[in-house]
Amino acid sequence: MRGFHHHDSQKESTPERRPRRVRHELRFRLLEVRNAERLTPHMMRITLGGGDLEGFHSPGFDDHIKLFFPAPGEEAPPRPDLSERGVSFPAGQVHPAVRDFTPRHHDPVAGTLQIDFALHETGPASEWARQARPGQKLGIGGPRGSFILPMDFDWHLLIGDETALPAIARRLEELPADARVIVLAEVDGEADELTFGTQAAATVHWVHRGAAPSGTAPLVEALNTVAFPEGHYYAWIACESSSAKCLRQALIAEHGANPKWIRASGYWRRGTAGVHDSFDE
Ligand SMILES: Cc1cc2nc3c(=O)[nH]c(=O)nc-3n(C[C@H](O)[C@H](O)[C@H](O)COP(=O)(O)OP(=O)(O)OC[C@H]3O[C@@H](n4cnc5c(N)ncnc54)[C@H](O)[C@@H]3O)c2cc1C
Repeated sequence: MRGFHHHDSQKESTPERRPRRVRHELRFRLLEVRNAERLTPHMMRITLGGGDLEGFHSPGFDDHIKLFFPAPGEEAPPRPDLSERGVSFPAGQVHPAVRDFTPRHHDPVAGTLQIDFALHETGPASEWARQARPGQKLGIGGPRGSFILPMDFDWHLLIGDETALPAIARRLEELPADARVIVLAEVDGEADELTFGTQAAATVHWVHRGAAPSGTAPLVEALNTVAFPEGHYYAWIACESSSAKCLRQALIAEHGANPKWIRASGYWRRGTAGVHDSFDE
């Protein structure tokens, strides 16, 4: 009988502090670009709309959707078959490029969904975002599920690069006024910094990659310059994959982090296209 066993982990992890998983119906939606706006030198905000957005739901700040890009010269991506086993395409159909992105802001009343694209050198997502114009089509699938992280920690640590800024911005928007947050965000330079909206007591440390010697992981170095408050904290990390792994290890080894209270993801991997790595227990 399960109820008789008291595992050590449960002493620390009260039920209220366990993340909750929510599943959603998986659907493919073909949306239309309504607006394309440059937020910073390395960030494009694309606003999508259309009747297919009906019923879209994204309750988790780090939810992700799959974006299906039209091939260059094509007006729309082909419609895939989505099942629990993944994405497939009818025989003979050319597979479009598919990449993971965060639903930055969904407005069900206006019928719009915003996605923020970090621009880097090459890749179908970056290239598409650079040229995006109203009227163009983009396919989306998901979110398939959400991971609802508890709020009741003494404080919250959010660490990430540009690709994580949409999720970090969402978390800051949802945390209540009595929450305490430290953000460590890596961008190219000062012009790439964003302004966050939050009720929480947030301290944002911007780390400029431009100034870092090549070969170093600026976020890992920056970790040692931050004063950690007392108390239990939840650490959420998303950035380049090997940096995410290093940050997780450093938090556990040097900053008293509870491995159960860390969610670390590789949102991309240097030299490899379309990667999503998880380093959770
Ligand atoms: C769950 C999840 C949510 C994400 N949310 C967002 C989001 O909201 N906004 C966002 O911008 N990104 C987000 N990403 C990251 C995004 O999916 C990747 O950056 C993706 O690789 C971009 O696709 P691409 O076609 O531009 O480049 P790819 O074709 O995948 O890669 C081409 C080359 O560029 C490199 N590369 C990829 N990304 C970067 C980068 N950011 N900086 C430098 N080099 C890079 C690759 O290593 C590869 O060598 C998310 C990823 C995950 C897993």
